[in-house]
Amino acid sequence: MQKITMKTPLVEMDGDEMTRILWQMIKEELLLPFVDLNTEYYDLGLEHRDATGDQVTVDAANATKKYGVAVKCATITPNAARMTEYNLHEMWKSPNGTIRAMLDGTVFRAPIVVKGIEPCVKNWKKPITIARHAYGDVYKNAEMTIPAAGRVELVYTPADGSEESRILVHDFQGSGVVQGQHNLDNSIESFARSCFEYALDTKQDLWFATKDTISKKYDHRFKDIFAEIFENEYKEKFEAAGITYFYTLIDDAVARIMKAEGGFIWACKNYDGDVMSDMVSSAFGSLAMMTSVLVSPHGYFEYEAAHGTVQRHYYKHLKGEETSTNSVATIFAWTGALRKRGELDQIPELSAFADKLEEATLATIESGKMTKDLALITTIQNPTVLNSRDFILAIREKLEELLK
Ligand code: NAP
Ligand code: MG
Repeated sequence: MQKITMKTPLVEMDGDEMTRILWQMIKEELLLPFVDLNTEYYDLGLEHRDATGDQVTVDAANATKKYGVAVKCATITPNAARMTEYNLHEMWKSPNGTIRAMLDGTVFRAPIVVKGIEPCVKNWKKPITIARHAYGDVYKNAEMTIPAAGRVELVYTPADGSEESRILVHDFQGSGVVQGQHNLDNSIESFARSCFEYALDTKQDLWFATKDTISKKYDHRFKDIFAEIFENEYKEKFEAAGITYFYTLIDDAVARIMKAEGGFIWACKNYDGDVMSDMVSSAFGSLAMMTSVLVSPHGYFEYEAAHGTVQRHYYKHLKGEETSTNSVATIFAWTGALRKRGELDQIPELSAFADKLEEATLATIESGKMTKDLALITTIQNPTVLNSRDFILAIREKLEELLK
């Protein structure tokens, strides 16, 4: 069989621990035999980040801006324990945070739906993709405890020296708490554009919800910015694609989600996204079956698994024990990136290969062969539990059948 050739390089960001092991297996068994992989490789493994003073993360983000598409392996975000474990020069920031800031992107998380792993909500038939606005609100707040009676005000002092404005937050008669939040038009606009772009890219409806009836300035600003950008830049494109933009109140959205069938994108303010993404991912089954795409308003895409480096399995692996780590989300990160590269470079064989690899992965699970995490929750009778490598080899076998 002739290998599929690529044009533009794909930005490849390698990572840490168990997912780094899976990364290698996926490339060897599922990609390199079929595709003449053209990647620009960046090693975001913690040792190399430390050795380069984290410059490699910045270089990888810049390469994503240059080429447009990246695939990333899970990486360690250092904490105190990692400082000693890896003898680090510094407690480097989360690579995902660095890359997201440089691309000005929004993260979309979508469950991988497969027969045999049934969502807890029985009417959810298709994935619900959550987009979380990852800037501001309670995550960048200023808060105080108020010890005793006194006034709290919001004061705005214009930089140009014009007159201050102030409003009363509360005239405290006793002790209490207070909090100040902010957000930026720029950031909300980027968030909105990323959401509209991704809806068009995946041909799914877009939902957005806030509490604008109660928060008539703050939340209303989000609603207005979305509405304005939609009217001016996306309305016609949405009509042409046969998709809709739907705005409602957050409580109405939550009620509707429970009765919906899925198959749409739900854009959430920062806090709603934090909370709802955990609810949706647990209801769909497993963190190991969740993909994640970072989409910038300029149309750059970075694909990865939503889970981490699966540290506990890695330590077993290091001791020579057998692991049964689920590689599905990491495989789907590769297929997402390859399909996108195929679309942008007009290589239909590459996109078709990505489809086939996804099909082979799902068919393997549907045939009853799966990793331990899925065997624990599947509705399939007597599943065959495979180790990390054998699961990938089972997918390879299906893939070869499908490509014949
Ligand atoms: P994790 O790697 O997602 O794993 C948490 C637990 O979830 C695992 O111990 C495992 O449960 C289960 N799990 C997750 N992925 C699985 C898979 N593919 N197959 C089977 N089981 C899976 O989260 P963590 O242990 O909190 O974090 C480990 C490291 O990952 C940390 O250093 C963190 O900084 C990093 N992290 C990176 C990213 C990223 O790069 N995007 C995201 C999150 C965390 P059992 O142990 O019960 O089998
Ligand atoms: Mg959360």
